[in-house]
Amino acid sequence: MKLKFIEKIQRTSDCFSFIFKPEVDIKWQAGQYMHFSIPHNQPDDRGINRFFTISSAPFEKNIMITTRFEFEKSSTFKKALFSLEKNQIISAVGPDGEFVISEFNKSYVLIAGGIGITPYRSILLDLEFNNNLKDLEVFLLYSNRNNEIVFKDDFDRLANSYNTFKVRYIISPERLNLDLIKIAVPYYNQRIFYISGPPPLVKAVEDELVNDAISLDNIKLDYFPGY
Ligand SMILES: Cc1cc2nc3c(=O)[nH]c(=O)nc-3n(C[C@H](O)[C@H](O)[C@H](O)COP(=O)(O)OP(=O)(O)OC[C@H]3O[C@@H](n4cnc5c(N)ncnc54)[C@H](O)[C@@H]3O)c2cc1C
Repeated sequence: MKLKFIEKIQRTSDCFSFIFKPEVDIKWQAGQYMHFSIPHNQPDDRGINRFFTISSAPFEKNIMITTRFEFEKSSTFKKALFSLEKNQIISAVGPDGEFVISEFNKSYVLIAGGIGITPYRSILLDLEFNNNLKDLEVFLLYSNRNNEIVFKDDFDRLANSYNTFKVRYIISPERLNLDLIKIAVPYYNQRIFYISGPPPLVKAVEDELVNDAISLDNIKLDYFPGY
């Protein structure tokens, strides 16, 4: 699949979104990812391909990815992504992935660490677009290293518009752990958990839930390796 680069949007001091127009219409489920390829000169040993979650919702039609930059310490792939020029064509394979919501009679706790927030923008805007958010109870718990919150406008707008949706930002040094989940989410053990972000955070939260007798059937994980 060919994608035409349209625009770059700065989200925080080090996070940017990149918007691409697909060459042909593409269907995906909110929460899925694609495998992107950006050929460039002298790639480092991490190569020219990366997985990124699609942070746009399907009704938005264009593919948006959102990522964090360490600027001069970045991989050559991230440098090539950052320097894309308008109308430049790249390629991607997919979409793929099971980190999606397909049952609308349940209640969800969406947990994100850092850039692991990307699937939830897509999922939440999709739930709203399809009129599902007014009937579903959803809690978003978003742990970040500082108060530069990616997509904060979207989440705050949803929280102000739907009393079924609650968002809680957890800023370091506050820690996202089971005690916090119990306070933020009433009847937390009757909900379905989605956890997304760097592997240590995902694993730590999963372990705490499992130790607290939450069934693995009620936990979905999305690991973002590489940070
Ligand atoms: C299903 C899936 C979905 C994903 N979705 C997203 C998403 O939506 N957004 C997102 O940002 N990421 C996502 N990721 C992770 C993404 O694919 C990259 O692994 C991640 O962004 C790191 O990118 P990078 O390797 O270019 O390193 P960078 O982000 O450029 O660097 C990260 C760290 O690695 C170090 N580093 C850089 N280059 C090298 C090197 N050659 N050797 C050793 N260390 C190096 C840097 O010093 C820095 O500390 C996803 C991964 C998967 C599997």
